[in-house]
Amino acid sequence: QLEEKKLNNFSLYELKKAPFLRGFFFIFDFMNIQDLHSAFLANPSISTDTRKIKENDIFFALKGDNFNGNTYAQKALEKGASMVVIDEEEFYVDDRTILVNDVLKSLQLLANFHRKQCKAQVISLTGSNGKTTTKELINAVLSKAYKTIATKGNLNNHIGVPLTLLTIQPDTEIAIVEMGANHLKEIEFLCKIAEPDFGYITNFGKAHLEGFGGVEGVIKGKSELYDYLTSNNKSIFLNADDPIQKNKLNTYTKRFGFSSEDPKYYTIQLLDAQPFVNLLVEDINIETNLIGAYNFSNCCAAIIMAKYFNVEMHEIKEALEEYTPDNNRSQIINTNGHYIILDAYNANPSSMKVALENFNSLEKDRKILILGDMFELGESAKEEHQSISDLAKSLNFEQVILVGENFYLTNNHFIKLRSFHDLKAYLKENSLPSKSSILIKGSRGMALERVLDLI
Ligand code: ATP
Ligand code: MG
Repeated sequence: QLEEKKLNNFSLYELKKAPFLRGFFFIFDFMNIQDLHSAFLANPSISTDTRKIKENDIFFALKGDNFNGNTYAQKALEKGASMVVIDEEEFYVDDRTILVNDVLKSLQLLANFHRKQCKAQVISLTGSNGKTTTKELINAVLSKAYKTIATKGNLNNHIGVPLTLLTIQPDTEIAIVEMGANHLKEIEFLCKIAEPDFGYITNFGKAHLEGFGGVEGVIKGKSELYDYLTSNNKSIFLNADDPIQKNKLNTYTKRFGFSSEDPKYYTIQLLDAQPFVNLLVEDINIETNLIGAYNFSNCCAAIIMAKYFNVEMHEIKEALEEYTPDNNRSQIINTNGHYIILDAYNANPSSMKVALENFNSLEKDRKILILGDMFELGESAKEEHQSISDLAKSLNFEQVILVGENFYLTNNHFIKLRSFHDLKAYLKENSLPSKSSILIKGSRGMALERVLDLI
């Protein structure tokens, strides 16, 4: 968790002990970050893990709960690093070592400095669900017409955001930066590093309730992106179908909204999601490979940004139709005669709800749910698992299998198993009805994709 103190103390003071400046202490701090940046421009590739280091990478010796990157400085240089940035003097190797007060902060400062030097416009996105998918969709449409870079995978935190910014090239026109948070003030902090020009919040859902202290906290925490942009006279994109975003609309001056209902906004219509999102925009039909009506707003966000940046409609269509989501994020798999929707990448009450409703609306027979526990819910865990179980009961499924300590404690007459181990034993004894349609969803820690080997 980032402290208030660190946020306000966002100065360039941290690099004053860079060894090549020793003896020049009268040189003020700004020079130091500039020197580090010059070194970075000479070798513009960063590593924070000696196992993955490449020739000429600059190694930033970060600390984690269970490791101290400083201890790998020597190894990093042996493996070809051009430079190592450390914050514990005893690990100083030779003049390729830069000693700073705080490695993480130096990485963040360097990223911010680099971002300011580049001409790229930065689009940031946050939200409870759908950030990575939306980021990929935005990148798909904008890269049809611009030189873009985007967050790789899910590198969306106080380390991932700086690393993403440091992949901006001199000719990059647009950078798409995913920002994740599970506490208040984290998005605000990431905004100070990335200084976005545009932003979008995918949704306000019931995710990381523990860290945010409830739904109100989630709304406040995610809104830090729109607040930052508005107070810096920058623009926001918003989903006017979302009641929370619509409610706060007037707070934001420079805004571009889309809606499927309200003609005041840029209109996009969801035609169906059986199972793939099929939509209509400016009389053009776009048939995506994205499963679930919940992906509709993710597509809309990409479309409205593409429109803003004048990407042609046929390119937007092409990009959205070409895109297929990667591992475990709503994939369709046909195995042993079963039709499986594998959505085991992650889960929280909001994404569970939309996934169940969507599955329910599919025109398929013999629908089976295999759901795993949702993590990080704190005090709400009991209630939220019960409410998903109740939702499952109110819908039309042939069989419901609930897995995990939290689901185990819910009180409907479903098959309830305490752990994956128990699920494995259960499926060994009881095979699923043939030719079923199965939705598999649970938190990352449940790793429910392992079910595939069992059915
Ligand atoms: P993380 O917090 O791990 O970075 P994320 O916000 O990047 O997650 P994605 O990885 O894009 O989210 O999607 C994860 C899952 O969230 C999807 O598989 C789907 O079940 C659900 N999801 C995606 N988009 C939405 C949405 N707009 N509303 C609700 N749920 C969604
Ligand atoms: Mg993500």
